[in-house]
Amino acid sequence: VSRFEGVTMAPPDPILGVSEAFKADTNDMKLNLGVGAYRTEELQPYVLNVVKKAENLMLEKGDNKEYLPIEGLAAFNKVTAELLLGADNAVIQQGRIATVQGLSGTGSLRLAAAFIQRYFPDAKVLISSPTWGNHKNIFNDARVPWSEYRYYDPRTVGLDFDGMVADIKAAPDGSFVLLHGCAHNPTGIDPTPDQWEKIADVIQEKNHIPFFDVAYQGFASGSLDEDASSVRLFVSRGMELLVAQSYSKNLGLYAERIGAINVVCSSSDAASRVKSQLKRIARPMYSNPPVHGARIVANVVGDATLFNEWKEEMELMAGRIKTVRQRLFDSLSQKDDSGKDWSFVLKQIGMFSYTGLNKSQSDNMTKSGIL
Ligand code: PMP
Repeated sequence: VSRFEGVTMAPPDPILGVSEAFKADTNDMKLNLGVGAYRTEELQPYVLNVVKKAENLMLEKGDNKEYLPIEGLAAFNKVTAELLLGADNAVIQQGRIATVQGLSGTGSLRLAAAFIQRYFPDAKVLISSPTWGNHKNIFNDARVPWSEYRYYDPRTVGLDFDGMVADIKAAPDGSFVLLHGCAHNPTGIDPTPDQWEKIADVIQEKNHIPFFDVAYQGFASGSLDEDASSVRLFVSRGMELLVAQSYSKNLGLYAERIGAINVVCSSSDAASRVKSQLKRIARPMYSNPPVHGARIVANVVGDATLFNEWKEEMELMAGRIKTVRQRLFDSLSQKDDSGKDWSFVLKQIGMFSYTGLNKSQSDNMTKSGIL
């Protein structure tokens, strides 16, 4: 008898479980509407040309495989903060940002969660309802209490702005508010610039700490700057905040696990202390991060030609997503005579569309193969 008799079977991950079910399905008309990974017009995964070029450069240079420092590759940390805030941002010039390379978005969120648990043991994190499913797992495993704020309004298939603001207001002062920088997952519904201002107002009023999850910078609108405007707005107000970044989508580096956690502080002194503690948390967890993806990002952003090519490829991906939305909307509007308003397909942004379909409708789509 096994010593592991007491270990029960874990439930399948609800998101990655869809990928497994997709692989197992033999229907040749099948479409994967599960995990958020970009596909070409031919439904194939896409390795960006700039990534291949950067990798060739790296091979030619003969870069070694020595350990990185705990905080990651310096050249990567520099460019990732610059991409986020803009290279000329005062926060960077004043050394008020603590940046630590993380294991993509998830690992960076997890590191920040451990930091919150350690230094703000009484604080809770407010997360949107709904949100990316893994957010709850991350805070649960880090033993950080969380509660939800209203976000999605089923009546309008849009943002429940009043509910969101009311819930942020009602939370205990000094809570962390998890916000999706752009292209909210899973709804594809983002606040307008004016709504972002009002959200920043309440967060400031309540002395909360904003915590941005930026998993789609450049991938939503096609512009790196535009997709970072929510974060930059909060920073321009002089607020202290956290930002987790991911290069899974915008550079297609899903399996390279490259991202960062940034903490913007009100002084460079606080930033160095925060950084030292993030490193202290990382060391016994995974010691130091992988180098390959970090080098790709540093090479792409550090070279003007490659950087421009990346922007073009990003626009291409963002553009194709918009075209697919338009085509989906057009064909639904033509073929569906139920009177359902499908305009949300066009209004929502990024690779996700929240359909408002219920469970049995979704199951029917999955199983019958007919929409
Ligand atoms: N945050 C959000 C909102 C996401 O959608 C994702 C990817 N699905 C992530 C974080 C993390 O992805 P990764 O760990 O690959 O960077």
